Order: sequence, then C-alpha cells, then structure tokens
Amino acid sequence: MPCSLWNDAEAEALSPREQLVYRSRLLGADRTVCNIYGGNTSVKAEETDFRGRQVRVLWVKGSGSDLATLTLNDIAGLRLEDVLPLFERESLSDEEMVEYLTHCLFTPRGPRPSIETLMHAFVPHAHVDHTHPDAIISLATCADGEAHVKRLYGKRVGWIPYVRPGFTLGKAVGQQVRENPQLEGIVLGKHGLVCWGETAKACYETTIRLIQEAEDYIADHARGRRVFGGVRVPALEPEPRKEALRAILPVLRGAISKQQHQVLCVDDSPEVLEFVSSERAREVALIGSACPDHIVHTKHYPLWLEWDGRSVESLKAQIPEAVQRYREAYQAYFEAHRRGDETMFDSAPRVVLIPGLGMVTAGRDVARARISRDLYHRAIAVMRGATALRQFVSLTPEEAFGIEYWPLELYKLRLRPPDRELAGRVAVITGGASGIGRASALRLAQEGAHVALLDIDAEGAARTAQEITARHGEGRAVAIPCDVSDEAQVRHAFHQVALTYGGLDIVVNNAGIAHSAPITETTLADWERLFAILARGYFLVAREAFRIWQEQGIGGSMVFITSKNALVAGKAAAAYSAAKASELHLARCLAEEGGAFGIRVNSVAPDAVLQGSRIWDSQWREERARTYGIPPEALEEYYRQRTTLKVNITPEDVAEAVLFFASDRSAKTTGAVLCVDGGVPAAYPR
Ligand code: NAD
Repeated sequence: MPCSLWNDAEAEALSPREQLVYRSRLLGADRTVCNIYGGNTSVKAEETDFRGRQVRVLWVKGSGSDLATLTLNDIAGLRLEDVLPLFERESLSDEEMVEYLTHCLFTPRGPRPSIETLMHAFVPHAHVDHTHPDAIISLATCADGEAHVKRLYGKRVGWIPYVRPGFTLGKAVGQQVRENPQLEGIVLGKHGLVCWGETAKACYETTIRLIQEAEDYIADHARGRRVFGGVRVPALEPEPRKEALRAILPVLRGAISKQQHQVLCVDDSPEVLEFVSSERAREVALIGSACPDHIVHTKHYPLWLEWDGRSVESLKAQIPEAVQRYREAYQAYFEAHRRGDETMFDSAPRVVLIPGLGMVTAGRDVARARISRDLYHRAIAVMRGATALRQFVSLTPEEAFGIEYWPLELYKLRLRPPDRELAGRVAVITGGASGIGRASALRLAQEGAHVALLDIDAEGAARTAQEITARHGEGRAVAIPCDVSDEAQVRHAFHQVALTYGGLDIVVNNAGIAHSAPITETTLADWERLFAILARGYFLVAREAFRIWQEQGIGGSMVFITSKNALVAGKAAAAYSAAKASELHLARCLAEEGGAFGIRVNSVAPDAVLQGSRIWDSQWREERARTYGIPPEALEEYYRQRTTLKVNITPEDVAEAVLFFASDRSAKTTGAVLCVDGGVPAAYPR
C-alpha cells in the first residue's frame, strides 16, 4: 500500500520547479503508483521571462523521461497565457497541438513537453499529478468501473471514458474539473488517475490517499477469494523448473529472434508463478494490455504457451509454431488497423507466459526485457484488482493500435540512441578476465552485445563484468567462474548463459596459458596441461555452443584465438605450438560442420601481445627471451623489429579482428584465419 513519503523539511526550501522534481520522484519511487516512463506532473508558477516580464509558466514533465529519475533538465516550460486559448477550440489534431505548443515554449531548448500537457494546462489548479496506480487502473479497467468509482468515492472523484491522450482528453478533464469544484480527482477509463492541489504537498497527498482508498476497496472485494481461481498447473519445484527453462529457452529465443536478435529475461517469482499457474490466467491475460502505457513494451497480448507441467519435450516442440502463429496474428492486427505508412515493429512477442514455469520477456537489450517484465508485474496486479471487482476489460485492438503506432508515442522511442550493431546478441568469452579476452569483451559490449565472461579467475572475470556494466548498464555482462578444461564446468557455464540471456550468438574461444621450453625439458605434465586448456578446452566450449546453437536455429559465430605459433614452427615452444595448431584445425573442421546450421567458425592468429597479457607476466617471458638470446626487457623491441610493419600488437588490435568475425561484417566468411601480427611473412596463410 503506497503511503505519503512527503517530508516538509526537505521540500520547504525548494523552488516550484525543484519541488516538482521532488514530488515526481516521490511518486516514481513506488511502481505501484506510476509506471516506468509513465505518468506526468506539473506546476504553474510565476516566472520572469527573457525580457524581464512576469509570466505564468506551466512546468510539465518532458516527453520520454521517468518520474523516478526526473531532473530539472527533464521539465519543459510553457507560457500559460499562450496555451490556454486552446481550451476554447472544438478540436485539435495531434500535429497541430505539437506545432502550437512549440510556439508556447518558455524554455525553447528544453525537452518536448509531455503528450498530456494540455490536460495539465486546462486543470486550473497550481499542481497536477497524472499517474497509473495499480489500484486505480483496476477500477479503470473493470467492466463496471464507473459504478465502482461512484460507489467508492461518491461525488469526490469523476470518471471519463477512454479516449486517447491529447486535446480531447485534456479538454474533457479541464471541463469536468471546472464544472465540479468538489472533485478531488478523475479516473480516466482504461487509463489512470488525475489529481490536483493548491500546494505540491496537497496534490501529492490526494494522489496517495485516493490510491489507498482504492486498494482498501479492492482488498474488501478480494478477501477470502481466489481471484484467478485455484491452481491449474502446479509450479514446478526450483530445480526441475530451472532444468525445464534451460531446455526451452534457446528454442524460444531462436523463434523470437528470427527477425531481430533479442535477449530473454526469466521471471519465476512467486507472484508470477501464482498467476501463470492459476485456473483463469490464460483467459484473463489474453483479454489484452492493462494500461496504454504498457503497450509499446509488452505489446497488447502476451504469448501464452499451453502446458500441463509434464513433458518438457512437448513444450519445446510447440514453441516454433506458437511463436509463428503469434507473428501471423500480429501481422493481421497491423494490417487491420494501419492508417498510413506506419512501419510494422518486429512481430515477435515481448511477454511469454508458461504455466508451471513463469514468464519470459524479450528485448533488444536486457534493460528493455526488464522493463517489459516490470510492467507485466503491474499488469498482473491490475488484472487481479479488476477481476476481484468483477471482470477485467482492456483497450480494443483498434485502441491498442492507436497507442502502439501513435506518432507521439513513437517520438519517445526515437529519443533513445539507435541500436548498436550487436544489439540483442549474446557473446560468451572464455578467459575474459585479462588480456585479449578482456579487450574483446569490452569491444563487443561497446557494439551492443551482452557478454558472459567465463574464466577460472572468478575475481578477474567479475572485474571485467563490472567494467562493462558501469559503462553500458546493469545486466550487460555476467561473470561465470569456469575451468574450460572441465567438461561439467563448461556445460554448467553454458546452462547459466542460457538461463541469463536465453541463449547465445557469439563465442570467443580464447582462454589460455603458454609454456616455453626445449622438447627435452618439456614434461608430460606440461604437455597435458597445455592440451587440456587449449585443445580440450576449445573443444568442450565449442561443443556446448554448437548444442545450443542447433536448438536456437539462428546460426552463430565462433572465433578461435589461436596464434602465429599455430602456423609457424618455432623453437622451444613445441607443446604450446602443437596445441595451438590443433585448435586451428579444430576451427576448420567445425566450420565445415557448422555451415549447414549457419554457424561460422573463424580464427584470429595474434603474435606477441605483450601489453596487458598475463601470459607475458609469467615464465613465458623469461623463457622466450632465453630462446632468442636477449634480455626480457628487450623483447618488445625485438618483436617490433621482427614484423613487416614494425609495430607491436595490443589486445585492442586483436579485439578488432574478433569483432569482424563475431559480427555480420564477415557474414560470408568461415574457416578463415586472420593474422594480427604486424606482418610475419612465415605466418602468411597459404
Ligand atoms: P592472459 O593470460 O592475459 O589471459 C588468459 C585468460 O585465460 C586469463 O584470464 C586466465 O585466467 C584464463 N584462463 C587460463 N586458464 C583457464 C582455464 N583453464 N579456464 C578458464 N580460463 C582460463 O593471456 P592473453 O595473452 O590474453 O591470451 C589469450 C589467448 O590468446 C590465449 O589462448 C593465448 O594462447 C592467445 N595468444 C596470446 C598471444 C600473446 O602474445 N599474448 C599471442 C598469440 C595467441
């Protein structure tokens, strides 16, 4: 139950605009009060304009920002005196409204004002909150919502049937407020709540109080009842559930990623499990979205995968066809409601519900998959409330389309930077704690990939993961401790990747060690260790990746970090070089095997990457220097002089080659070797 978080001591000294930020953040702090990126707030205040005149300004949240993180820069200012004459109009198109409001801007360099600016302007009170609280939307999406609102609030709260935000809704709200001075708020059918007040505190506290009243009212109706009916398919126990999810996720991700790569996010929280496993969940979920604000993130309908909780194989088998049917239905919905030259979004579902297992959401990055997940939690709460009152109702498909393809809603999406080249892709990098693996992870992440770092050095892998999440956001990287020479650990690590992101697209087979000694001084243990990590390790990693890729059915790209030593015979590194050569041949064989599945396997052959490599911090440096008869500190210069281009190689140089092979830039290349060695003629591949 939301409660007032207002603190007079904190709010007192703030300017009207600062107080708007303060109030907005209080509202945004509780997601049962307002959706992420949803809701808007405003204040009307006296300000001095650029000519020194006193003007009344409407400060209103800008389009596309989130109340929870609002800053002063996210607030648009408009001269009220210019906006208010619109109230006299009979009608106004969205395009006219946007154009007109541009002329009213008090802060021309600020953000575009909220879609719902006119509603804020037309309410004559100083402070206005517009939110989408679960409890209020439960009333707003209930079949007889208006009657419930009357019964609950009497004449204190008004009702306006659903109309898409814009001039018409703004005018209806303004008129109702002006004609009914006793009103404290208005419930907008299938949409949300508007409240107001003469002070910021009064406005905020009215919002919270009306929500509390609605929550109590719904709780009274739900008491002692199983709102969605009893359990139809019991939730699987945690271990079998994880096993089932792991088995189906790559198939689901493959089907969902046919047009555009997506990452998946699993939610098997008790709240979700209770919903999806219940008797009436399917019927209620397929009624449609719970709030217009959800649609661009959840689509109007989820995909429901019917399952009795028994055979995982039968669940898996139905996925491709179920996703295909969903796509066809989405295409039909698009064709039925398109008005002009709209471009259809990817037709794949954003939310997938599976009885007994939970919910899976999809997005071009993990942040978006999580937004869909969080919004669907709100949807479940709304559906529960409305069903407790009587019957949940949703927007019609036409109304939903009107929101999903509404140019003003699309504008918010355009504020986001465009997707990077590897958006929606998942890369597994072995040996990502250090050197070439770390540099490759940073490079792929920079291009939008989600990265799983498998390394025996758990702390180092966690450090690289933190570096990536600090730069690119939560969830963009995950560290998984793994010894690549251990079959069970490799399998477990790939299962973890599937559970974290749904599957994978790129593997950089890189983890390694080095050893240098004349053959007479190479022990069997040295030989076995090198072959265990390099040859066996690359094989085990490749095999797990191939298994998942064949289930996913959307191809994959594997990059082997071999070495110049795989191509050129050198002294005193026979075991290392033989192991590296075996990797190279493995890569070529796998290229042949992978072709039929769209799986590409290519190799990068670096030479002498001293900087940032731990290999060169080890005995290897001393031993190589001894082989060449030079002091260890002269090695860098020695290697530079040995190359045709007279350069040293860095991990970042190798990472560029990795990016080339990992991405579609090399879509038609497999079985190839790219040397990153500054030019070593003996290693030119023939
Ligand atoms: P590095 O030592 O800096 O990084 C190697 C990483 O592999 C480390 O993080 C290490 O913890 C990890 N690792 C080692 N054994 C592992 C195991 N059993 N399981 C999981 N992780 C393990 O070395 P680097 O120079 O970045 O080398 C990376 C790859 O590049 C190696 O395969 C190496 O053979 C190859 N290579 C390096 C050079 C060079 O000069 N540095 C040249 C050619 C090829």
